Amino acid sequence: MGRVPADLIPADGALVVAEIFGPTFQGEGPSIGRRAGFVRLGRCNLDCTWCDTPYTWDWNRFDPAVELRSEPIGAVVERLAAMAPEIVVITGGEPLLQQRHLEPLLAACAERGWPVEVETNGTIVPDDAIVPLVARWNVSPKLANSGVAVDKRLRAPALAALMATGRAVFKFVAADPAELDEIAAVVHAHGLEGIWVMPEGTDPVTLTTRARALADPVLARGWNLTPRLHVLLWGDERGR
Ligand code: SF4
Repeated sequence: MGRVPADLIPADGALVVAEIFGPTFQGEGPSIGRRAGFVRLGRCNLDCTWCDTPYTWDWNRFDPAVELRSEPIGAVVERLAAMAPEIVVITGGEPLLQQRHLEPLLAACAERGWPVEVETNGTIVPDDAIVPLVARWNVSPKLANSGVAVDKRLRAPALAALMATGRAVFKFVAADPAELDEIAAVVHAHGLEGIWVMPEGTDPVTLTTRARALADPVLARGWNLTPRLHVLLWGDERGR
């Protein structure tokens, strides 16, 4: 563990990390409920208004010297091994901002038999070097409800590259069934398959209420619905 460089770029053989936590459960998407070790990387290239991990990127509200650290990859692997994970989830922030430093971690996970899921906002084309080492891409394109400009949050080349891996699912955060038309437009425009809708919410009551409202309309469109298991279990507690 060490100081984060001033420009927040990781040193060789290290990653800029916000949190490493687990064992816990993958809380969202196709692997919901699986025992997992999480690596949450620092920094993001978007600034969604409802972001539930602003401490990874919002330096108006948080201090990067407090929130982030430079962690050698060997130390990350040791922390994960202690969790005896079934899967490893690399999340953020936006983890692909550090993708040139991810290959050794992904290779170490492969050696140990841990399938890796990478959670990304779908705006960055993944490097060829890491694509074969990722078991699933959990891609979460952002809607207008994020407050991010459309040309910044929807990048056709990145979405196409992730689709082309054949191992991507696309998870959209919605607060209301009225947003499903917007999701359908994005799905159609980019030819996406493997669609999941997840209610927005960081407390169990909000999450459950929104999930119930979304359930039938999501079924009617032929898509999948995921709750956020960690929110149902632990609210917005960090590191769960
Ligand atoms: S892309 Fe994800 S981590 Fe980045 S601001 Fe949006 S919700 Fe937060």
